[in-house]
Amino acid sequence: MGNTYSITRGEGLDLYLSNGGTDVFLDVMTLASCPLAHTPWQQNLALLFADSQRFGYGFAGFALDELPWTSDAPEERRFLLAVIDKALTRHGWNLLTYDPPFAQGYLETYRTMVESFTPVPTVSAHFGDWRAAPDADLVRRCPQHDVFQGLAGCRLCDTNLQPAP
Ligand SMILES: [Zn+2]
Repeated sequence: MGNTYSITRGEGLDLYLSNGGTDVFLDVMTLASCPLAHTPWQQNLALLFADSQRFGYGFAGFALDELPWTSDAPEERRFLLAVIDKALTRHGWNLLTYDPPFAQGYLETYRTMVESFTPVPTVSAHFGDWRAAPDADLVRRCPQHDVFQGLAGCRLCDTNLQPAP
């Protein structure tokens, strides 16, 4: 069991990850997105990566066309690509207690998917309205890892997720 990140649900290229692989993908996307996230939409996206898989496994995947893109969708897509590119520089990987040998491949596949996708403004019952700024508590940063604490606390401090060094 794992998670599927797709473009449109059930169609085209997708990124299927085991639950362990998903945790790695979410770690590296959280490390890359939090320092870049300034607008409410960007912060909500970073929180999606920070909080996914924290309350149960197998529900983290989503299709790109399900995200709540706004009238700024082209700029939002550029932000997601910038996050992937920052992750590809291995940003913050020195803070992980493990070596993520497959993360580079996950990120390259995901980048190809996002590049091939043209977002349109979307109303999302599932993700809500990302034009609204998240609660200030959620975007408080972990002093050790510089990522948002989110609903579940810093994912890099979570010993259920991170193997002991
Ligand atoms: Zn932390």
